[in-house]
Amino acid sequence: METQTRPEFVVELTKKSVDLSRWYTEVILKGQLADYWQIHGFQVVRPYGFALWENIQAGLDARFKATGHKNAQFPLLLPESLLTKEAEHVEGFAPEVAWVTQAGKEELNERLAIRPTSEAIIMTMYSRWIDSWRDLPMLLNQWCSVLRWEKTTRFFLRTSEFMWQEGHTAHRSAEEAREETMRMLEIYRDFVEGELAIPVVPGRKSEAEKFAGAAETYTIESLMPDGQALQSATSHYFGDRFAKAFNITFQDMDGVRKHVHTTSWGLSWRIIGALIMVHGDDAGLILPPKVAPVQAVIVPIPGRGGEDGGVTEAVNAAERALRRQFRVEVDRSDRSPGWKFNEWEMRGVPLRIEIGPRDVRSGQAVLVRRDSREKSSAPLDGLVAAVEARLADVHAGLFARARALREERTSSVATVAELAATIREQPGFKMASWCGDAACEQTVKERTGATIRCLPFDSQGQTGACLVCGRPGPHRVLLARAY
Ligand SMILES: [Zn+2]
Repeated sequence: METQTRPEFVVELTKKSVDLSRWYTEVILKGQLADYWQIHGFQVVRPYGFALWENIQAGLDARFKATGHKNAQFPLLLPESLLTKEAEHVEGFAPEVAWVTQAGKEELNERLAIRPTSEAIIMTMYSRWIDSWRDLPMLLNQWCSVLRWEKTTRFFLRTSEFMWQEGHTAHRSAEEAREETMRMLEIYRDFVEGELAIPVVPGRKSEAEKFAGAAETYTIESLMPDGQALQSATSHYFGDRFAKAFNITFQDMDGVRKHVHTTSWGLSWRIIGALIMVHGDDAGLILPPKVAPVQAVIVPIPGRGGEDGGVTEAVNAAERALRRQFRVEVDRSDRSPGWKFNEWEMRGVPLRIEIGPRDVRSGQAVLVRRDSREKSSAPLDGLVAAVEARLADVHAGLFARARALREERTSSVATVAELAATIREQPGFKMASWCGDAACEQTVKERTGATIRCLPFDSQGQTGACLVCGRPGPHRVLLARAY
């Protein structure tokens, strides 16, 4: 694979350990994941970045389908009157909505919103499609882009237009809808940890932090290397609020007409921003093996004086064998091996396979892990098993490293003053007790810049003194500054 980038680019890369923000932008541009667009806040995703998104999409889509969901496609635009049907929902999104007011030379009678999310669109259709208990549950998902006009933007993490999936479901009962909400949150947790090697904290959002119009919002939160939290996916339980606003009723088995209970859940390409930041190092990207567009790169090493020594044949055989199971590239360009090593390291390929004349003579290849740079050899006729094992090692290594960093950056605080001091000096996840009062939550935000990221499931039932007012708090909360 040829590249247009200048040979000296690798030495120009800012160190992650020195300037995370600059490093982040540089690896995205130099790693050819994305590029700028002429309108502020929008990005172009290049093939290497889009392949990463497609692999994430494929993994999640399979899980959605395995749990009974089907994909559909809904329109980009909705009339203002629909968006305003659920009051809290429109209030939450109003500042970020972009409007279409003109078509050709015609001024439109009613302005049209570019979807910031599709609850209002899909609920309108559900009110037409749902009539009987036999139509339930309705379990739909849509892969699409939505638009929320953002002032401060960054590649993948916060873009005005972003790609995501949004699942929307309708159920006979509150219990069933709640089960669905939790089922989807668990799918996200399992996927993000199991496929992307990013450890997350699952929990419930506070009233102030929940999704506009939701009765309950659940989240998985991950920790970035600068100590800021990233909301990685959310799952919402709406109760019958949207059903009432959009008049979605069904005739139940007992003959009575009832409102449905709905949910929605979403994960966007900001998860790509998370995996870049969590796993990368000073040499560039490190992509988690299960979603990496290229899982292994084979670099042929020429012999002295350019002798082939059976390398071409061995490389071709290795490529054929590995292609059946892995996403593999062979770098046959005329660059030096050292240049190729740097290039593929910078682009985050999890495993490098080196084959030279000496390796061919001994029937071996050299395997180099991207995460630890650990070298090992494997027999040429046993490459498939060796690559499979090393990729699993890379995944486990990335997850363990990310979890260790998170644990190191997680501590408890007793008071808001302590939070304010430690969040500046040692940014990270802070655990504290909270009385549940919105005023105390607001005080925390104003005085520290940190927000309640969630009420983690695994730490509920522990009481303590509220970090603001000192009253006994029934909640244990996870606090952090956030992206
Ligand atoms: Zn309090």
